[in-house]
Amino acid sequence: MPAFKTLDDLTDIAGKRVLVRVDLNVPVTDGKVSDTTRIERVAPTILELSEKGAKVILLAHFGRPKGEAVADQSLSLIAPAVEEVLDQRVAFAADCIGAPAADAIAKMNDGDILLLENTRFHKGEEKNDATFTADLAKNGDIYVNDAFSAAHRAHASTEGLAHILPAYAGRTMQAELEALEKGLGKPTHPVVAIVGGAKVSTKIDLLSNLVTRVDALVIGGGMANTFLAAQGIDVGKSLCEHDLADTARAILETAKTAGCAIVLPVDGVVAREFKAHAANETVDVTAIPADAMMLDVGPKSIELINGWIEKAATLVWNGPLGAFEIAPFDTATVSAAQHAAAQTRAGKLVSVAGGGDTVSALNHAGIADDFSYVSTAGGAFLEWMEGKELPGVAVLTKG
Ligand code: AMP
Repeated sequence: MPAFKTLDDLTDIAGKRVLVRVDLNVPVTDGKVSDTTRIERVAPTILELSEKGAKVILLAHFGRPKGEAVADQSLSLIAPAVEEVLDQRVAFAADCIGAPAADAIAKMNDGDILLLENTRFHKGEEKNDATFTADLAKNGDIYVNDAFSAAHRAHASTEGLAHILPAYAGRTMQAELEALEKGLGKPTHPVVAIVGGAKVSTKIDLLSNLVTRVDALVIGGGMANTFLAAQGIDVGKSLCEHDLADTARAILETAKTAGCAIVLPVDGVVAREFKAHAANETVDVTAIPADAMMLDVGPKSIELINGWIEKAATLVWNGPLGAFEIAPFDTATVSAAQHAAAQTRAGKLVSVAGGGDTVSALNHAGIADDFSYVSTAGGAFLEWMEGKELPGVAVLTKG
């Protein structure tokens, strides 16, 4: 990955207007922010710039208002939570361009923080429209992108602005890019990937990319059933995409050519109902009863997976190994997560995880803080695992 500029390269910014793209797309329940993780992640960048005397102007999207002003997707709803996390006053402007933004910025003192209204209230945001981007750029002297999670989109505030203003990665973006570089960019081998979750169909590109880049790929979760079935194993009533048998076989073939070991479950925990504490039994994958479904990988498979974690110098993880939301089908996910965490604590493993349910699965295992890096980005993390260029990152590294 080419070098990118960070806040370390930003000197003499007192009095400068710094437009900071952050991710404030937080969950809201009954009008209140129910999880402030994303705000906490961007706080260091905002506070550092403020302490250095910059006028910190925050740009963000919230929800999918599709180019219209929608009251319940106003960032004014998020502003109090931002203030609380930062423990600083945060002013709010009712538009991200035009007079409301300009007037609010004119009132700012050095070190002040201002949140501009949802960028997606304008159609130009998602279109990366030149006029809209230029209107945004009028509000700043410098652009800092701290929203890795939105970097897979080439939108005005995530990509366009970097072509107009001097562009820098914020601290969270920097940490994310550095962690990802250690995970798949220039990793220490052996590299082991664990991919689980429900379906192969949502992760074909990801699996196809990983088999060419890692030394071993552990496949768990519902998607393992598709691979087992593609090899002629009867998976009973398990979640399985039989129509993807050819795709699964092609991925196995690519892995063979690339010298990537594929680790599939050898046993599983099966049940007749998809619910917590459903009656269950452990069987070899070749003996799944016709009326049962595999909801977790079994103890022999856990031992196998933990063995691969021990061999690994680098681990990249997306997706749970079983239906982790319903006990006891969380057993394999929790065991492997705890094993990876212990290896990481012992300094033997670089562990990078992210995407969708992975964060909640690792939180459920109680060890998310022990991984080297857990990305809160969903789509952007998956596109990175797919080996795709992220426009919001590319523009920071090429310019
Ligand atoms: P994903 O969003 O693709 O990572 O899928 C996560 C979902 O896969 C979770 O909600 C799990 O409950 C589900 N899952 C994992 N393993 C299984 C399985 N063996 N059968 C059914 N669902 C599963």
